[in-house]
Amino acid sequence: MIKAIKGTKDLLPVDSPRWKHLESIVEKVFKTFNYKEIRTPVFEETSLFARGIGEDTDIVGKEMYTFFDMGNTSLTLKPEMTASVVRAYNEHSLGSLQPVTKLYYIASMFRQERPQAGRLRQFNQFGAEAIGSSSPLLDVEMIQMSYNIVTDLGLKDLTIKINSLGVPKSRENYKNLLREYLNDKQHDLSEDSRKRFDTNILRIFDSKSTGDQKILKDAPKLMDHLDDESRADFEIVKEQLEKSHISYEVDPALVRGLDYYTKLTFEIISSSVGAQNALCGGGRYDLLIETLGGKPTPATGFAAGIERILLACENEKSFTVPDESLDIYIVRLDKTLESVVMQFADKLRKQNLSVDFDYLQRSVKAQMREANKMNAKFTLFVGGDEYEQEMTRLKNMESGKEEKISLNELDKLVSKIKNE
Ligand code: AMP
Repeated sequence: MIKAIKGTKDLLPVDSPRWKHLESIVEKVFKTFNYKEIRTPVFEETSLFARGIGEDTDIVGKEMYTFFDMGNTSLTLKPEMTASVVRAYNEHSLGSLQPVTKLYYIASMFRQERPQAGRLRQFNQFGAEAIGSSSPLLDVEMIQMSYNIVTDLGLKDLTIKINSLGVPKSRENYKNLLREYLNDKQHDLSEDSRKRFDTNILRIFDSKSTGDQKILKDAPKLMDHLDDESRADFEIVKEQLEKSHISYEVDPALVRGLDYYTKLTFEIISSSVGAQNALCGGGRYDLLIETLGGKPTPATGFAAGIERILLACENEKSFTVPDESLDIYIVRLDKTLESVVMQFADKLRKQNLSVDFDYLQRSVKAQMREANKMNAKFTLFVGGDEYEQEMTRLKNMESGKEEKISLNELDKLVSKIKNE
């Protein structure tokens, strides 16, 4: 038997009501902040991600699903959405329509990571990008939106971490200070961190090694070397979060994996999902639009992992989804009435009722069992003497009450079902 690829997951009918619930909250919250949906292709030219995310990042360095098409162009399944959104923003000059372009998405991402709980090779994210303003209020908006979504889902065990990476100039100065500090301690660092010392020194802060963490404890802090503008913006973010009653922690080690971040970065962490505990991450990326060939344009955004959020919801039992029960199951009393039942079901379905019936020529008893199994609200009996008189019998499955209704009084039947 052929099985699904490691690190991918089927979304089965039992799971989909939870997803739909999440998606409806995501869409509702984005609407309240006036964000509009964008969908981009599943694959892009590899160079988009190499340039946009950065050659020295884990994603570009080892996690991308890259292949050559028949024209020998290198293509990549998108590992994240921001580069694709910015490509679309530049390509369609979206900025000329609106000075601040607010976009949201729900889409599948692909990364060749080692699969484990909360870490997949195809996973789904929702997220938002606001392009066209350097206002820290938009950074706050990102945190408010992601916070509203996870709390609307009922999640409680959450920590919001924020940090500022400064503008590239202050960050470069800081990287030099860090390099100076770590230079004679290199041989004590873990192998991964020794590599990062040369390629992406800030990422050393991501290290889980206790030895590395000990060395980093006394390292100079980026926060102490921020430029004035980043510092002032960071103060505004903190003040607005406090006014919105969103508690946060400043985490100087929150450097995030991608090269394109400037100024604010943030993450929402859950204590109910195990090692892969980041539900959502984002931040400002003022340089990406020009890096990808557009006019210099400031921007900010975030992305959240749907599987991980739903795992947290399950562990916290944060919401219950009502059953998707069927409105009517039609029980056919005579086998000859198959076509009549089909046509009647069609009429009811056009009135927005969910309707099902038997396709296996089963007995009346078996059809009743099926109606129960499907948790139908009503059963409609068609056939027998009643049918001769153009009547049918409607049974309310909860109360057990039965009522005769003329087959020609469709409106009456529909209003009964909708109102009871
Ligand atoms: P990132 O794009 O790496 O900042 O990730 C944003 C969010 O996507 C994370 O906080 C996770 O919730 C989710 N995520 C990232 N990578 C994976 C993965 N391999 N499997 C499942 N979820 C992921």
